[in-house]
Amino acid sequence: MRLTMIIMVVVLLTGCHWIDKPKSAKTVDMYNTTGDMVGTAKLSEDPDGVVIELKLEGLTPGFHGVHIHEIAKCEGPDFKSAGNHFNPKDKQHGLMNPDGSHLGDLPNIEADKNGKIDKEITANDVTLLKGTTSLIEKGGTSLVVTSEADDGMSQISGNSGERIICGEIKANEKDVDREKPSDPTEIEKK
Ligand code: ZN
Repeated sequence: MRLTMIIMVVVLLTGCHWIDKPKSAKTVDMYNTTGDMVGTAKLSEDPDGVVIELKLEGLTPGFHGVHIHEIAKCEGPDFKSAGNHFNPKDKQHGLMNPDGSHLGDLPNIEADKNGKIDKEITANDVTLLKGTTSLIEKGGTSLVVTSEADDGMSQISGNSGERIICGEIKANEKDVDREKPSDPTEIEKK
């Protein structure tokens, strides 16, 4: 009897976990300009936006810019394929700009003397769910680290230097499947 209860609880818990996880969290692999994986960014949904747990290595010590870009395409060596900063609200660049900021503008991150970064930052007002500020709709977005720090003001990207690390933020395949109609006869009824 007791064993049955335990099994039921476990099934329930794992069941909820399985339903909840694909849409509210994801891990993005981060690559340098020569295509080597240099770390990960763990993204999770938060009341303020999306929390990004960034673990990277191989950087020059000191501050670097980090931004969310509008296209989920990381093609080296310059990552121009990622497009501009994610800006669905049509603002100017810069966290310190009164006419800003891009939703993709994030605080600078500092690499330690060994070139490593282990830091949690929050991307405010964006979501991993649906909507105009979604990071995964319309093919997704990307997370890009730059060679220099962002000055928080200069157009259009804060004088933040070259794009040196990039990771694609995309919908999980499971989510994409769910957006397709599961029963074709339902559409015919409409
Ligand atoms: Zn920007």
